[in-house]
Amino acid sequence: MTSGAHADSYVISTKAGTDEARPGELTCLVLDAETPGLEWLDPWAGLGMRGNASRALRLRGVEVPAENLLGTEGDQIWYVFEVVAPFFLMAMAGTYLGVAQAALDATEAHLRERTYEPSGEALADMPVLQYKIAEMRTAVLRARGLIYHAAVLGDTRSATALPTIMLAKAEAGETAVRVTNEAMTCCGGIAYRDNGLLARLLRDARASHVMAPTTDVLRVWAARLLLGRPLL
Ligand SMILES: Cc1cc2nc3c(=O)[nH]c(=O)nc-3n(C[C@H](O)[C@H](O)[C@H](O)COP(=O)(O)OP(=O)(O)OC[C@H]3O[C@@H](n4cnc5c(N)ncnc54)[C@H](O)[C@@H]3O)c2cc1C
Repeated sequence: MTSGAHADSYVISTKAGTDEARPGELTCLVLDAETPGLEWLDPWAGLGMRGNASRALRLRGVEVPAENLLGTEGDQIWYVFEVVAPFFLMAMAGTYLGVAQAALDATEAHLRERTYEPSGEALADMPVLQYKIAEMRTAVLRARGLIYHAAVLGDTRSATALPTIMLAKAEAGETAVRVTNEAMTCCGGIAYRDNGLLARLLRDARASHVMAPTTDVLRVWAARLLLGRPLL
């Protein structure tokens, strides 16, 4: 859990109150940090992460007052997909688009500046690198277009807004991973410097695929919505 052991309260999900609860029938609760029974496990050391506190939480005999229920019992799916997801996913999509754009900007700047001595040959003149820049910029433009399109569908409450927003976040993550990866190649050894800008962008981009909802899961969910199948 991000900010584990530092926040005042946490939103958790739990199986809906009855034993007959169907799969996916989950309930959202606000858990006060002072609640007895919370046990924080060892801090989690993420790939290259600094200033981040993520750790697992174990709940032992925790009692949560009824007023901490978000909505009503069993309606987490409604909460998550109707209230949280559209904004959360758009924010994540924007973040990963920014990661990709920053990597592209840094790569273009590096290619413009780097020349070999004494030949004076410039990286910017190399067709293979020119081709990579074209591909990277196309990927960023494509992702930005899809994100804006998803935002318009969300604003106009289109029936296909939610699956499109899911696909936009998945595409933003994919683009960030692809562009930062290519940026590392284009910028040579200097990019590989520990904790350098591109190394940090690559690290951040990688998290996009595994931070819930993951890229693969988002695509499966979007397809289920579009095909009229149950989401979970
Ligand atoms: C930086 C960071 C911050 C995080 N912060 C939080 C947080 O604040 N709160 C929190 O609760 N969690 C947080 N997490 C954990 C995150 O929610 C999990 O990593 C995520 O849910 C994936 O679960 P898992 O790691 O168990 O992977 P697994 O569930 O084991 O998945 C492994 C792979 O299988 C794929 N996969 C699994 N199921 C399916 C499926 N049904 N269809 C298609 N593909 C599937 C996944 O996409 C993934 O690629 C964070 C993780 C990271 C990296």
